[in-house]
Amino acid sequence: MSHASQNLKRPIAKALSAECLPAIPFNKVVPLGKELEYMAEAVASGKIAGDGAFTHKCHGLMQSLFGVHKVLLTTSCTHALEMAAILLDIAPGDEVICPSFTFVSTINAFVLRGAKPVFIDCRPDTLNMDESVLEDLITPHTRAILPVHYAGVGCEMDPIMDIANRHGIAVVEDNAHGLFGKYRGQWLGTFGCMATQSFHETKNFACGEGGALLINDWKFEERAEILREKGTNRSRFFRGQVDKYTWVDVGSSYLPSDILAAFLYAQLEVRDTIQAKRKQIWTTYAIELRDWATSVGARMPIIPEHCEQAYHMFYLLMPSFAARQGLIGHLKENKITAVFHYLPLHTSEMGMRLGYNECDLPVTEDISDRLIRLPMYNGMTDDELARVIEAVLSYAA
Ligand SMILES: *Cc1c(COP(=O)(O)O)cnc(C)c1O
Repeated sequence: MSHASQNLKRPIAKALSAECLPAIPFNKVVPLGKELEYMAEAVASGKIAGDGAFTHKCHGLMQSLFGVHKVLLTTSCTHALEMAAILLDIAPGDEVICPSFTFVSTINAFVLRGAKPVFIDCRPDTLNMDESVLEDLITPHTRAILPVHYAGVGCEMDPIMDIANRHGIAVVEDNAHGLFGKYRGQWLGTFGCMATQSFHETKNFACGEGGALLINDWKFEERAEILREKGTNRSRFFRGQVDKYTWVDVGSSYLPSDILAAFLYAQLEVRDTIQAKRKQIWTTYAIELRDWATSVGARMPIIPEHCEQAYHMFYLLMPSFAARQGLIGHLKENKITAVFHYLPLHTSEMGMRLGYNECDLPVTEDISDRLIRLPMYNGMTDDELARVIEAVLSYAA
């Protein structure tokens, strides 16, 4: 039935529904645990700077959950990536292999140290880095490989780690999407020598702005604390390991306030509720949209059997750029915000200046044009979910 004939049949209902429906955002943060209570507790304690009681609770919880040597909360995932680049002594002339289909911070943190980005195309199924072309990109200057677990689905870590180990190259996982995801039974974020998390408001677990550095190799532990504490050994002083603290290395201020750590800790406490909710939303989309997707030539996300995904996002690959733009517009008419995702880094203004050209990474360019992400957030109601599904189903590409 066309829109015109629907309108003729139910002109009043249609006009009313369009005006009265509340907007459905792409994302919003909804506290589901003791977020506000813990923030008040932090304030009442009189201690709200970094590395307070809630920061330590977050560190302890993540260290024991994931079995990593050390977790340090940071002001953002971007800053955790910057710390990783400094810890690896990245310097001008070094090359770093990174997907082009990622957030700009993944590579910018390394470019800030003078590294040259080497962009790798993605696999057409998971949209993760295509490990089959990885070895071809390695040169004597390659210092790091940066897998990004897109949408919280693991990259092919077995071959990636094998290649990296054979060439003696560090792996830093940008795990901004992948907290609580697994690859062959192992937590994402525990494969590389370091991994970074984001607690930006758009991620599964949020405190507004925040991140973490996961350290899987003892050798980075002490220097990571120093870097994060303005280049001082203040952390050792607080543990009674030195009798005064002093300037010992380069550094900056990468500590979030304990108020933010309090919010985050409450989110992490209700991790099972949050992940179950996201799984329910994701699965409902996948079931309800399957036949429609086939009929319009859209592709659903592909989750390999050996990957337990983190339910970070639900995306569709529409058959063309025009169909993608059309669906975004159609949902907008229904007061629903759906969005595209990364513009390839290699075709950006900066990428062009680095010598890249359009057509260099065909899979990345193709999927970037066709991908749409549907609303998905921890507090999403069943009614909101049903409305998005109904609106998508009424779109004929
Ligand atoms: C969100 C995101 C980041 C940046 O996180 P911030 O905490 O905002 O710095 C980095 N990489 C990826 C893949 C992301 O999705």
